[in-house]
Amino acid sequence: MHSTHRIFQRQPLILLLSALLISGFFATTLSSYYVSKKAILDAIIAQELPLTSSNIYSEIQKDLVQPVLLSSTMAHDTFVRDWVLDGERDSASMARYLREIKGRYGAFSSFFVSDRTARYYTGEGVLKQVAPGEARDAWYYRVREMQEPYEINVDPDLANRDALTIFVNYRVFDFDGAFLGATGVGLTVDAVRRLIADYQQRFQRTIYFVDAEGKTVLFGNTSTRAETDLRATEGLRDLVDRILREKSGSYRFSADGRDYLLNVNYIPELKWYLFVEKGVDEALAEIRTTLYINLAVCLGITILVLFLTHIALRRYQRRIEKMAATDKLTGLLNRQAFGVLIDKAFADYRRDPRPISILMIDVDNFKTINDQHGHVVGDQILKQVAARFLDGLRASDIAVRWGGEEFLFVLKGCDLEHAQRIAEHVRREIEHTPFKAGKGTISVTISIGISQYDGVEPYEATLNRADIGLYAAKNGGRNRVCVGSLA
Ligand code: GH3
Ligand code: MG
Ligand code: MG
Repeated sequence: MHSTHRIFQRQPLILLLSALLISGFFATTLSSYYVSKKAILDAIIAQELPLTSSNIYSEIQKDLVQPVLLSSTMAHDTFVRDWVLDGERDSASMARYLREIKGRYGAFSSFFVSDRTARYYTGEGVLKQVAPGEARDAWYYRVREMQEPYEINVDPDLANRDALTIFVNYRVFDFDGAFLGATGVGLTVDAVRRLIADYQQRFQRTIYFVDAEGKTVLFGNTSTRAETDLRATEGLRDLVDRILREKSGSYRFSADGRDYLLNVNYIPELKWYLFVEKGVDEALAEIRTTLYINLAVCLGITILVLFLTHIALRRYQRRIEKMAATDKLTGLLNRQAFGVLIDKAFADYRRDPRPISILMIDVDNFKTINDQHGHVVGDQILKQVAARFLDGLRASDIAVRWGGEEFLFVLKGCDLEHAQRIAEHVRREIEHTPFKAGKGTISVTISIGISQYDGVEPYEATLNRADIGLYAAKNGGRNRVCVGSLA
Protein backbone atom coordinates (compact mmCIF):
# COMPACT_ATOMS: atom_id res chain seq x y z
CA MET A 1 0.00 0.00 0.00
CA HIS A 2 2.81 2.30 0.85
CA SER A 3 4.32 1.91 -2.59
CA THR A 4 0.98 2.58 -4.32
CA HIS A 5 0.68 5.69 -2.26
CA ARG A 6 4.08 6.78 -3.44
CA ILE A 7 3.22 6.11 -7.06
CA PHE A 8 0.30 8.51 -6.79
CA GLN A 9 2.38 11.02 -4.95
CA ARG A 10 5.13 10.95 -7.52
CA GLN A 11 2.86 10.75 -10.51
CA PRO A 12 -0.25 12.89 -10.31
CA LEU A 13 -0.76 11.90 -13.95
CA ILE A 14 -1.53 8.34 -12.80
CA LEU A 15 -3.99 9.64 -10.25
CA LEU A 16 -5.76 11.76 -12.86
CA LEU A 17 -5.76 8.89 -15.34
CA SER A 18 -7.27 6.44 -12.85
CA ALA A 19 -9.95 8.95 -11.88
CA LEU A 20 -10.82 9.48 -15.56
CA LEU A 21 -10.84 5.78 -16.45
CA ILE A 22 -12.79 4.68 -13.41
CA SER A 23 -15.41 7.41 -13.63
CA GLY A 24 -15.79 6.91 -17.39
CA PHE A 25 -16.06 3.14 -17.21
CA PHE A 26 -18.35 3.10 -14.22
CA ALA A 27 -20.64 5.77 -15.60
CA THR A 28 -21.22 3.90 -18.88
CA THR A 29 -21.47 0.47 -17.25
CA LEU A 30 -23.86 1.60 -14.55
CA SER A 31 -26.05 3.67 -16.85
CA SER A 32 -26.43 0.78 -19.29
CA TYR A 33 -27.27 -1.48 -16.35
CA TYR A 34 -30.00 0.87 -15.14
CA VAL A 35 -31.44 1.24 -18.63
CA SER A 36 -31.61 -2.57 -19.06
CA LYS A 37 -33.00 -2.98 -15.57
CA LYS A 38 -35.80 -0.52 -16.25
CA ALA A 39 -36.59 -2.18 -19.60
CA ILE A 40 -36.73 -5.64 -18.00
CA LEU A 41 -38.93 -4.57 -15.09
CA ASP A 42 -41.24 -2.62 -17.40
CA ALA A 43 -41.59 -5.68 -19.64
CA ILE A 44 -42.45 -7.86 -16.65
CA ILE A 45 -45.08 -5.43 -15.38
CA ALA A 46 -46.57 -4.53 -18.76
CA GLN A 47 -46.36 -7.87 -20.58
CA GLU A 48 -45.05 -10.98 -18.86
CA LEU A 49 -47.18 -11.07 -15.75
CA PRO A 50 -50.46 -9.97 -17.41
CA LEU A 51 -49.88 -12.49 -20.20
CA THR A 52 -49.38 -15.33 -17.74
CA SER A 53 -52.44 -14.20 -15.87
CA SER A 54 -54.69 -14.06 -18.93
CA ASN A 55 -53.36 -17.41 -20.21
CA ILE A 56 -54.27 -19.11 -16.97
CA TYR A 57 -57.58 -17.30 -16.90
CA SER A 58 -58.56 -18.44 -20.39
CA GLU A 59 -57.39 -21.96 -19.58
CA ILE A 60 -59.66 -22.03 -16.58
CA GLN A 61 -62.59 -20.60 -18.52
CA LYS A 62 -62.06 -23.21 -21.24
CA ASP A 63 -62.04 -25.96 -18.60
CA LEU A 64 -65.31 -24.65 -17.17
CA VAL A 65 -67.32 -24.48 -20.40
CA GLN A 66 -67.83 -28.21 -20.79
CA PRO A 67 -68.86 -28.85 -17.17
CA VAL A 68 -71.39 -25.98 -17.33
CA LEU A 69 -72.91 -27.46 -20.49
CA LEU A 70 -72.96 -30.89 -18.92
CA SER A 71 -74.66 -29.60 -15.77
CA SER A 72 -77.19 -27.77 -17.92
CA THR A 73 -77.94 -31.02 -19.75
CA MET A 74 -78.42 -32.81 -16.41
CA ALA A 75 -80.75 -30.09 -15.14
CA HIS A 76 -82.92 -30.38 -18.24
CA ASP A 77 -82.79 -34.17 -18.50
CA THR A 78 -86.33 -35.60 -18.56
CA PHE A 79 -85.12 -38.69 -16.68
CA VAL A 80 -84.00 -36.60 -13.72
CA ARG A 81 -87.20 -34.61 -13.61
CA ASP A 82 -89.51 -37.61 -14.15
CA TRP A 83 -87.66 -39.59 -11.54
CA VAL A 84 -88.12 -36.81 -8.96
CA LEU A 85 -91.77 -36.27 -9.90
CA ASP A 86 -92.24 -40.07 -9.58
CA GLY A 87 -91.28 -39.78 -5.92
CA GLU A 88 -87.52 -40.69 -5.98
CA ARG A 89 -88.51 -44.34 -5.59
CA ASP A 90 -85.43 -46.13 -6.94
CA SER A 91 -82.29 -44.41 -5.65
CA ALA A 92 -80.16 -47.03 -7.44
CA SER A 93 -81.26 -45.77 -10.87
CA MET A 94 -80.34 -42.15 -9.92
CA ALA A 95 -76.99 -43.43 -8.68
CA ARG A 96 -76.48 -45.28 -11.95
CA TYR A 97 -77.36 -42.12 -13.89
CA LEU A 98 -74.90 -39.98 -11.90
CA ARG A 99 -72.20 -42.67 -12.21
CA GLU A 100 -72.78 -42.74 -15.96
CA ILE A 101 -72.40 -38.95 -16.26
CA LYS A 102 -69.29 -38.97 -14.12
CA GLY A 103 -67.65 -41.79 -16.06
CA ARG A 104 -68.65 -40.59 -19.52
CA TYR A 105 -67.42 -37.00 -19.08
CA GLY A 106 -64.51 -37.57 -16.73
CA ALA A 107 -65.98 -35.36 -13.99
CA PHE A 108 -64.55 -35.64 -10.54
CA SER A 109 -67.96 -36.03 -8.94
CA SER A 110 -71.63 -35.67 -9.90
CA PHE A 111 -74.59 -34.98 -7.68
CA PHE A 112 -78.28 -34.27 -7.35
CA VAL A 113 -79.90 -32.71 -4.30
CA SER A 114 -83.66 -33.09 -4.04
CA ASP A 115 -85.57 -30.17 -2.61
CA ARG A 116 -88.51 -32.32 -1.47
CA THR A 117 -86.52 -34.99 0.43
CA ALA A 118 -83.31 -32.98 1.07
CA ARG A 119 -81.39 -36.06 -0.08
CA TYR A 120 -77.90 -35.63 -1.53
CA TYR A 121 -77.43 -38.25 -4.27
CA THR A 122 -74.06 -39.21 -5.76
CA GLY A 123 -72.88 -42.06 -7.99
CA GLU A 124 -72.77 -44.24 -4.87
CA GLY A 125 -76.36 -43.56 -3.81
CA VAL A 126 -77.64 -41.30 -1.05
CA LEU A 127 -74.67 -39.60 0.59
CA LYS A 128 -76.58 -37.66 3.24
CA GLN A 129 -79.38 -35.22 3.81
CA VAL A 130 -78.81 -31.50 3.55
CA ALA A 131 -79.97 -29.34 6.43
CA PRO A 132 -80.50 -25.53 6.53
CA GLY A 133 -78.40 -25.02 9.66
CA GLU A 134 -75.42 -27.02 8.38
CA ALA A 135 -72.51 -24.82 7.25
CA ARG A 136 -71.42 -27.35 4.68
CA ASP A 137 -74.87 -27.26 3.09
CA ALA A 138 -75.11 -23.49 2.94
CA TRP A 139 -74.29 -23.65 -0.78
CA TYR A 140 -77.55 -25.53 -1.48
CA TYR A 141 -79.76 -22.97 0.24
CA ARG A 142 -77.92 -20.24 -1.59
CA VAL A 143 -78.53 -21.96 -4.96
CA ARG A 144 -82.14 -22.50 -4.02
CA GLU A 145 -82.71 -18.76 -3.60
CA MET A 146 -80.54 -17.43 -6.39
CA GLN A 147 -81.79 -15.78 -9.58
CA GLU A 148 -79.23 -17.14 -12.05
CA PRO A 149 -79.71 -20.64 -13.48
CA TYR A 150 -76.37 -21.81 -12.13
CA GLU A 151 -73.28 -20.85 -10.12
CA ILE A 152 -69.69 -21.99 -9.98
CA ASN A 153 -68.51 -22.61 -6.47
CA VAL A 154 -65.25 -23.78 -4.99
CA ASP A 155 -65.61 -25.97 -1.92
CA PRO A 156 -64.06 -28.95 -0.25
CA ASP A 157 -65.90 -32.01 -1.56
CA LEU A 158 -67.47 -34.11 1.16
CA ALA A 159 -67.82 -37.05 -1.20
CA ASN A 160 -64.13 -36.96 -2.08
CA ARG A 161 -62.34 -36.72 1.21
CA ASP A 162 -62.66 -32.93 1.22
CA ALA A 163 -60.46 -32.42 -1.85
CA LEU A 164 -60.77 -28.85 -3.12
CA THR A 165 -63.30 -28.98 -5.92
CA ILE A 166 -64.92 -26.60 -8.38
CA PHE A 167 -68.65 -27.27 -8.42
CA VAL A 168 -71.14 -26.27 -11.08
CA ASN A 169 -74.46 -26.00 -9.24
CA TYR A 170 -77.42 -25.98 -11.64
CA ARG A 171 -81.03 -25.31 -10.60
CA VAL A 172 -83.56 -28.02 -11.66
CA PHE A 173 -87.23 -27.25 -12.40
CA ASP A 174 -90.14 -29.49 -13.28
CA PHE A 175 -92.14 -29.08 -16.51
CA ASP A 176 -94.30 -26.39 -14.87
CA GLY A 177 -91.37 -24.40 -13.54
CA ALA A 178 -91.48 -25.57 -9.92
CA PHE A 179 -88.09 -25.89 -8.18
CA LEU A 180 -86.99 -29.54 -7.79
CA GLY A 181 -83.45 -29.22 -6.53
CA ALA A 182 -79.87 -28.78 -7.71
CA THR A 183 -77.66 -30.92 -9.89
CA GLY A 184 -74.24 -30.66 -11.48
CA VAL A 185 -70.66 -31.87 -11.49
CA GLY A 186 -67.55 -31.28 -9.45
CA LEU A 187 -64.13 -30.78 -11.00
CA THR A 188 -60.85 -31.46 -9.41
CA VAL A 189 -58.49 -28.47 -9.29
CA ASP A 190 -55.54 -30.74 -10.08
CA ALA A 191 -55.53 -29.69 -13.72
CA VAL A 192 -55.39 -26.01 -12.75
CA ARG A 193 -52.77 -26.84 -10.19
CA ARG A 194 -50.64 -28.61 -12.80
CA LEU A 195 -51.02 -25.64 -15.14
CA ILE A 196 -49.85 -23.28 -12.42
CA ALA A 197 -46.91 -25.51 -11.51
CA ASP A 198 -45.89 -25.63 -15.15
CA TYR A 199 -45.97 -21.84 -15.45
CA GLN A 200 -44.10 -21.44 -12.20
CA GLN A 201 -41.35 -23.71 -13.34
CA ARG A 202 -41.04 -22.36 -16.87
CA PHE A 203 -41.10 -18.68 -16.04
CA GLN A 204 -39.96 -18.56 -12.42
CA ARG A 205 -43.15 -16.95 -11.21
CA THR A 206 -45.23 -17.62 -8.19
CA ILE A 207 -48.87 -18.18 -9.05
CA TYR A 208 -51.73 -18.59 -6.59
CA PHE A 209 -55.39 -17.86 -6.06
CA VAL A 210 -56.77 -15.69 -3.30
CA ASP A 211 -60.37 -15.56 -2.13
CA ALA A 212 -62.46 -12.52 -1.24
CA GLU A 213 -61.19 -12.64 2.35
CA GLY A 214 -57.58 -12.33 1.22
CA LYS A 215 -56.68 -15.94 1.96
CA THR A 216 -54.70 -18.07 -0.46
CA VAL A 217 -56.89 -20.95 -1.63
CA LEU A 218 -54.89 -22.62 -4.34
CA PHE A 219 -51.20 -22.89 -5.04
CA GLY A 220 -49.24 -24.71 -7.69
CA ASN A 221 -47.56 -27.91 -6.54
CA THR A 222 -44.90 -25.89 -4.80
CA SER A 223 -45.65 -23.01 -2.52
CA THR A 224 -42.99 -20.69 -1.18
CA ARG A 225 -45.18 -18.76 1.21
CA ALA A 226 -45.88 -20.15 4.64
CA GLU A 227 -48.86 -17.93 5.42
CA THR A 228 -52.24 -18.59 3.85
CA ASP A 229 -53.61 -15.27 5.10
CA LEU A 230 -52.27 -12.39 3.02
CA ARG A 231 -53.12 -10.01 5.85
CA ALA A 232 -50.49 -11.83 7.91
CA THR A 233 -47.94 -11.88 5.09
CA GLU A 234 -45.08 -9.43 5.21
CA GLY A 235 -45.16 -6.96 2.34
CA LEU A 236 -48.70 -7.83 1.21
CA ARG A 237 -50.32 -6.98 4.53
CA ASP A 238 -50.86 -3.30 3.70
CA LEU A 239 -51.75 -3.95 0.06
CA VAL A 240 -54.48 -6.57 0.49
CA ASP A 241 -57.44 -4.22 0.90
CA ARG A 242 -56.41 -2.13 -2.08
CA ILE A 243 -55.90 -5.23 -4.26
CA LEU A 244 -59.26 -6.74 -3.31
CA ARG A 245 -60.98 -3.42 -3.97
CA GLU A 246 -59.28 -2.75 -7.30
CA LYS A 247 -59.86 -6.36 -8.48
CA SER A 248 -57.03 -6.19 -11.00
CA GLY A 249 -53.79 -4.28 -11.33
CA SER A 250 -50.02 -4.28 -11.00
CA TYR A 251 -48.23 -3.88 -7.70
CA ARG A 252 -44.79 -3.87 -6.22
CA PHE A 253 -43.91 -4.93 -2.70
CA SER A 254 -41.00 -6.01 -0.53
CA ALA A 255 -40.74 -8.99 1.79
CA ASP A 256 -37.68 -10.31 3.62
CA GLY A 257 -35.62 -7.59 2.00
CA ARG A 258 -36.54 -8.72 -1.49
CA ASP A 259 -38.61 -6.89 -4.09
CA TYR A 260 -41.54 -8.47 -5.92
CA LEU A 261 -43.66 -7.49 -8.89
CA LEU A 262 -47.27 -8.60 -8.69
CA ASN A 263 -50.13 -8.80 -11.16
CA VAL A 264 -53.64 -9.45 -9.93
CA ASN A 265 -56.68 -10.47 -11.96
CA TYR A 266 -60.17 -11.11 -10.64
CA ILE A 267 -61.88 -14.26 -11.93
CA PRO A 268 -65.62 -13.62 -11.52
CA GLU A 269 -66.59 -17.25 -12.29
CA LEU A 270 -64.64 -18.47 -9.28
CA LYS A 271 -64.86 -15.27 -7.24
CA TRP A 272 -61.11 -15.69 -6.84
CA TYR A 273 -58.21 -13.41 -7.47
CA LEU A 274 -55.37 -14.76 -9.58
CA PHE A 275 -52.00 -13.58 -8.25
CA VAL A 276 -48.92 -13.82 -10.46
CA GLU A 277 -45.72 -12.55 -8.90
CA LYS A 278 -42.06 -12.54 -9.74
CA GLY A 279 -38.99 -11.69 -7.65
CA VAL A 280 -37.11 -8.70 -9.00
CA ASP A 281 -33.80 -10.30 -8.03
CA GLU A 282 -34.43 -13.40 -10.13
CA ALA A 283 -35.51 -11.26 -13.06
CA LEU A 284 -32.36 -9.19 -12.82
CA ALA A 285 -29.98 -12.03 -12.01
CA GLU A 286 -28.68 -12.27 -15.55
CA ILE A 287 -28.01 -8.59 -16.13
CA ARG A 288 -26.55 -8.36 -12.62
CA THR A 289 -24.02 -11.01 -13.58
CA THR A 290 -23.30 -9.03 -16.74
CA LEU A 291 -22.91 -5.90 -14.64
CA TYR A 292 -20.41 -7.56 -12.30
CA ILE A 293 -18.47 -9.01 -15.23
CA ASN A 294 -18.41 -5.60 -16.92
CA LEU A 295 -17.26 -3.89 -13.75
CA ALA A 296 -14.56 -6.50 -13.26
CA VAL A 297 -13.41 -6.04 -16.85
CA CYS A 298 -13.39 -2.26 -16.43
CA LEU A 299 -11.43 -2.59 -13.22
CA GLY A 300 -9.01 -4.98 -14.89
CA ILE A 301 -8.50 -2.65 -17.84
CA THR A 302 -8.08 0.33 -15.52
CA ILE A 303 -5.48 -1.51 -13.46
CA LEU A 304 -3.71 -2.73 -16.59
CA VAL A 305 -3.62 0.75 -18.15
CA LEU A 306 -2.41 2.27 -14.89
CA PHE A 307 0.20 -0.43 -14.52
CA LEU A 308 1.48 0.02 -18.07
CA THR A 309 1.44 3.79 -17.71
CA HIS A 310 3.31 3.52 -14.46
CA ILE A 311 5.94 1.26 -16.01
CA ALA A 312 6.31 3.50 -19.05
CA LEU A 313 6.63 6.59 -16.88
CA ARG A 314 9.08 4.93 -14.57
CA ARG A 315 11.21 3.73 -17.45
CA TYR A 316 11.11 7.13 -19.05
CA GLN A 317 11.97 8.79 -15.77
CA ARG A 318 14.87 6.40 -15.17
CA ARG A 319 16.21 7.02 -18.63
CA ILE A 320 16.08 10.75 -18.07
CA GLU A 321 17.71 10.38 -14.67
CA LYS A 322 20.40 8.18 -16.13
CA MET A 323 20.96 10.53 -19.04
CA ALA A 324 21.23 13.44 -16.67
CA ALA A 325 23.67 11.54 -14.48
CA THR A 326 25.91 10.04 -17.14
CA ASP A 327 28.78 11.41 -19.12
CA LYS A 328 28.12 10.82 -22.81
CA LEU A 329 31.62 9.99 -23.95
CA THR A 330 32.78 7.60 -21.24
CA GLY A 331 29.54 6.35 -19.69
CA LEU A 332 30.89 7.26 -16.24
CA LEU A 333 28.89 9.39 -13.83
CA ASN A 334 29.07 13.14 -14.31
CA ARG A 335 29.59 15.89 -11.78
CA GLN A 336 25.87 16.37 -11.00
CA ALA A 337 25.50 12.71 -10.12
CA PHE A 338 28.62 12.94 -8.01
CA GLY A 339 27.03 15.70 -5.92
CA VAL A 340 24.12 13.46 -5.00
CA LEU A 341 26.17 10.31 -4.46
CA ILE A 342 28.89 11.86 -2.33
CA ASP A 343 26.25 13.36 0.00
CA LYS A 344 24.70 9.94 0.36
CA ALA A 345 28.09 8.26 0.91
CA PHE A 346 28.98 10.71 3.67
CA ALA A 347 25.53 10.34 5.22
CA ASP A 348 25.98 6.56 5.23
CA TYR A 349 29.28 7.07 7.00
CA ARG A 350 27.49 8.51 10.03
CA ARG A 351 25.53 5.26 10.39
CA ASP A 352 28.38 2.97 9.43
CA PRO A 353 31.75 4.71 9.81
CA ARG A 354 33.84 2.75 7.36
CA PRO A 355 36.68 4.80 5.81
CA ILE A 356 36.04 6.60 2.51
CA SER A 357 38.87 7.65 0.21
CA ILE A 358 38.93 9.82 -2.87
CA LEU A 359 41.22 9.49 -5.89
CA MET A 360 41.68 12.46 -8.20
CA ILE A 361 43.12 11.31 -11.55
CA ASP A 362 44.49 13.37 -14.44
CA VAL A 363 45.86 12.04 -17.71
CA ASP A 364 49.44 13.18 -18.23
CA ASN A 365 50.26 15.43 -21.17
CA PHE A 366 46.93 14.84 -22.80
CA LYS A 367 47.28 18.02 -24.78
CA THR A 368 50.21 16.39 -26.58
CA ILE A 369 48.14 13.31 -27.41
CA ASN A 370 45.45 15.54 -28.86
CA ASP A 371 48.01 17.53 -30.75
CA GLN A 372 49.74 14.49 -32.22
CA HIS A 373 46.79 12.24 -33.03
CA GLY A 374 43.85 14.57 -33.22
CA HIS A 375 40.85 15.19 -31.05
CA VAL A 376 38.95 12.11 -32.24
CA VAL A 377 41.75 9.80 -31.17
CA GLY A 378 41.96 11.74 -27.93
CA ASP A 379 38.29 10.94 -27.35
CA GLN A 380 38.89 7.26 -28.09
CA ILE A 381 41.71 7.17 -25.59
CA LEU A 382 39.54 8.79 -22.92
CA LYS A 383 36.83 6.22 -23.57
CA GLN A 384 39.26 3.32 -23.19
CA VAL A 385 40.85 4.81 -20.08
CA ALA A 386 37.38 5.04 -18.50
CA ALA A 387 36.55 1.46 -19.46
CA ARG A 388 39.74 0.23 -17.91
CA PHE A 389 39.02 2.17 -14.73
CA LEU A 390 35.63 0.52 -14.48
CA ASP A 391 37.20 -2.93 -14.83
CA GLY A 392 39.42 -2.29 -11.84
CA LEU A 393 36.71 -0.96 -9.53
CA ARG A 394 34.13 -2.62 -7.27
CA ALA A 395 30.39 -2.12 -7.73
CA SER A 396 30.18 0.02 -4.63
CA ASP A 397 32.86 2.41 -5.87
CA ILE A 398 31.87 5.61 -7.61
CA ALA A 399 33.69 6.57 -10.82
CA VAL A 400 33.13 10.09 -12.13
CA ARG A 401 34.38 11.97 -15.16
CA TRP A 402 35.31 15.11 -13.36
CA GLY A 403 36.00 17.13 -16.49
CA GLY A 404 38.16 16.98 -19.69
CA GLU A 405 40.74 14.29 -18.96
CA GLU A 406 40.23 14.32 -15.20
CA PHE A 407 38.54 11.52 -13.27
CA LEU A 408 37.52 10.98 -9.69
CA PHE A 409 36.92 7.81 -7.67
CA VAL A 410 35.13 7.48 -4.37
CA LEU A 411 36.25 4.23 -2.73
CA LYS A 412 34.06 3.01 0.14
CA GLY A 413 35.48 0.89 2.94
CA CYS A 414 38.95 2.04 1.92
CA ASP A 415 41.43 3.83 4.18
CA LEU A 416 44.31 5.89 2.81
CA GLU A 417 46.75 3.01 2.76
CA HIS A 418 44.36 0.72 0.92
CA ALA A 419 43.49 3.52 -1.51
CA GLN A 420 47.17 4.02 -2.22
CA ARG A 421 47.56 0.36 -3.19
CA ILE A 422 44.57 0.57 -5.51
CA ALA A 423 45.76 3.83 -7.05
CA GLU A 424 49.20 2.36 -7.63
CA HIS A 425 47.65 -0.68 -9.24
CA VAL A 426 45.54 1.45 -11.58
CA ARG A 427 48.44 3.71 -12.46
CA ARG A 428 50.62 0.74 -13.38
CA GLU A 429 47.89 -0.89 -15.35
CA ILE A 430 47.44 2.25 -17.49
CA GLU A 431 51.18 2.69 -17.91
CA HIS A 432 51.98 -0.88 -18.94
CA THR A 433 49.15 -1.57 -21.34
CA PRO A 434 49.14 0.86 -24.30
CA PHE A 435 45.84 1.95 -25.86
CA LYS A 436 44.66 1.22 -29.35
CA ALA A 437 44.47 4.22 -31.65
CA GLY A 438 43.79 3.62 -35.32
CA LYS A 439 46.32 1.06 -36.52
CA GLY A 440 48.88 1.68 -33.82
CA THR A 441 48.96 2.05 -30.05
CA ILE A 442 49.56 4.94 -27.71
CA SER A 443 51.08 4.76 -24.27
CA VAL A 444 49.39 6.82 -21.60
CA THR A 445 50.25 7.62 -18.04
CA ILE A 446 48.19 9.15 -15.27
CA SER A 447 48.85 11.06 -12.09
CA ILE A 448 46.76 10.44 -8.98
CA GLY A 449 46.10 12.45 -5.84
CA ILE A 450 44.59 10.75 -2.79
CA SER A 451 42.74 11.87 0.36
CA GLN A 452 40.60 10.24 3.04
CA TYR A 453 37.39 11.63 4.44
CA ASP A 454 37.91 12.65 8.05
CA GLY A 455 34.30 11.93 9.00
CA VAL A 456 33.15 15.48 9.68
CA GLU A 457 34.37 17.83 6.96
CA PRO A 458 32.35 18.89 3.90
CA TYR A 459 33.27 16.89 0.82
CA GLU A 460 34.89 19.95 -0.79
CA ALA A 461 37.61 19.73 1.84
CA THR A 462 38.33 16.08 1.03
CA LEU A 463 38.37 16.90 -2.69
CA ASN A 464 40.69 19.78 -2.07
CA ARG A 465 43.25 17.52 -0.38
CA ALA A 466 43.01 15.02 -3.28
CA ASP A 467 43.62 17.92 -5.64
CA ILE A 468 46.69 18.94 -3.65
CA GLY A 469 47.90 15.33 -3.96
CA LEU A 470 47.38 15.43 -7.73
CA TYR A 471 49.26 18.71 -7.96
CA ALA A 472 52.11 17.18 -6.03
CA ALA A 473 52.13 14.15 -8.36
CA LYS A 474 52.33 16.42 -11.42
CA ASN A 475 55.05 18.48 -9.80
CA GLY A 476 56.92 15.37 -8.80
CA GLY A 477 57.24 14.38 -12.48
CA ARG A 478 53.85 12.80 -13.33
CA ASN A 479 52.93 9.07 -13.59
CA ARG A 480 52.77 8.72 -9.82
CA VAL A 481 50.47 8.61 -6.81
CA CYS A 482 50.59 11.24 -4.07
CA VAL A 483 48.66 11.64 -0.84
CA GLY A 484 47.36 15.15 -0.46
CA SER A 485 47.82 16.98 2.80
CA LEU A 486 47.31 20.58 3.85
CA ALA A 487 50.67 20.92 5.51
P1 GH3 B 1 49.14 17.62 -17.60
O1 GH3 B 1 47.79 17.34 -17.19
O2 GH3 B 1 50.03 16.47 -17.59
O3 GH3 B 1 49.72 18.80 -16.96
O4 GH3 B 1 49.12 18.03 -19.17
P2 GH3 B 1 47.90 18.16 -20.03
O5 GH3 B 1 48.24 18.34 -21.42
O6 GH3 B 1 46.94 17.01 -19.77
O7 GH3 B 1 47.33 19.48 -19.45
P3 GH3 B 1 45.93 20.15 -19.42
O8 GH3 B 1 45.09 19.60 -18.29
O9 GH3 B 1 46.18 21.63 -19.36
O10 GH3 B 1 45.22 19.82 -20.79
C1 GH3 B 1 44.21 18.94 -20.94
C2 GH3 B 1 43.86 18.86 -22.36
O11 GH3 B 1 42.86 17.86 -22.56
C3 GH3 B 1 43.27 20.13 -22.85
C4 GH3 B 1 42.11 19.74 -23.72
O12 GH3 B 1 42.25 20.13 -25.03
C5 GH3 B 1 42.09 18.24 -23.66
N1 GH3 B 1 40.76 17.78 -23.49
C6 GH3 B 1 39.89 18.12 -22.49
N2 GH3 B 1 38.71 17.47 -22.69
C7 GH3 B 1 38.86 16.70 -23.82
C8 GH3 B 1 38.01 15.81 -24.51
O13 GH3 B 1 36.88 15.57 -24.13
N3 GH3 B 1 38.51 15.20 -25.61
C9 GH3 B 1 39.73 15.43 -26.10
N4 GH3 B 1 40.13 14.80 -27.15
N5 GH3 B 1 40.53 16.28 -25.45
C10 GH3 B 1 40.13 16.90 -24.34
MG1 MG C 1 46.37 16.39 -18.01
MG1 MG D 1 43.87 18.35 -16.82
